[in-house]
Amino acid sequence: MKKIAISIICCLLALGNIAPAQAAKPKAKHVVMIALDGWGAYSMKKAEVPNIRALMADGCYTLKKRSVLPSSSAINWASMFNGAGTEIHGYTTWGSHTPEIPSAVTNEHGIFPTIYSLMQEQMPEAETGCLYEWEGIKYLVDTLAIKHYAQAKDYDKQPDKLCTMAEEYIKAEKPAFVAVCFDQLDHVGHADGHDTPAYYQQLETLDSYVKRIVDAVKAAGIYDDTIILMSADHGGIEKGHGGKTLQEMETPFIIAGKGIRKNGGQFEELMMQYDVAATIAYIFGLEQPQAWIGRPMVQVFK
Ligand SMILES: [Zn+2]
Repeated sequence: MKKIAISIICCLLALGNIAPAQAAKPKAKHVVMIALDGWGAYSMKKAEVPNIRALMADGCYTLKKRSVLPSSSAINWASMFNGAGTEIHGYTTWGSHTPEIPSAVTNEHGIFPTIYSLMQEQMPEAETGCLYEWEGIKYLVDTLAIKHYAQAKDYDKQPDKLCTMAEEYIKAEKPAFVAVCFDQLDHVGHADGHDTPAYYQQLETLDSYVKRIVDAVKAAGIYDDTIILMSADHGGIEKGHGGKTLQEMETPFIIAGKGIRKNGGQFEELMMQYDVAATIAYIFGLEQPQAWIGRPMVQVFK
């Protein structure tokens, strides 16, 4: 009897080896993330942003997603893409190009694993893109793992340059994942101040770009298989950020589209900056590295 039991266990173990656990089925084929540098959640009390509010109404959102500290740019863009906090990825200052604290782990490119490097390893055929205004982004995302990355320069001369680049790229390549990272709101936050008329005016302009990008997803014929995400690296107070107020630390996270709970409203679960990467990985059924501490926001899915 004991022998039979042992043989059954051996058979099961062998079967386990033959048929390894399959990656989870993707929730959607496409993810388009629109991220606004310096977009504090506080602004949603007043902002007249019908297109952003339409995404909020369609899907699920939180206005309490917290930045990691310090509440500054490179640190939080890094966390958004790499599923870990400051102490783990090691980017600690506003404009870090390389980690000031050595990253706890690195991938074959010598950089802390990002959503792009996970996609490159686990779904190598997937088209991935990263489009941005602030050059600092490119040092954080692992460009060697991205199929297409490009900066929109001189947005003071052509404010909708990045939006146009995103429209063209989405229609031409129908990417599995693209992040479109606008810097303009943070710029106004520093120049004119947060929570000022100029800040809200800039947010309204960005809202019109959100509509254009969503329309480009529709024109590309992929809307029904796309999840749209919106978020931010940090908020701000007066003419800055980097401190410990909730105006600086709390940013929106909005998710809508394929497989997302319809009209789900505001979710109560705590979300951190590094949970953005984990949620994207979850959408694509990717296994996340042990060094990531991000948790997918599973409650937003149907
Ligand atoms: Zn920033």
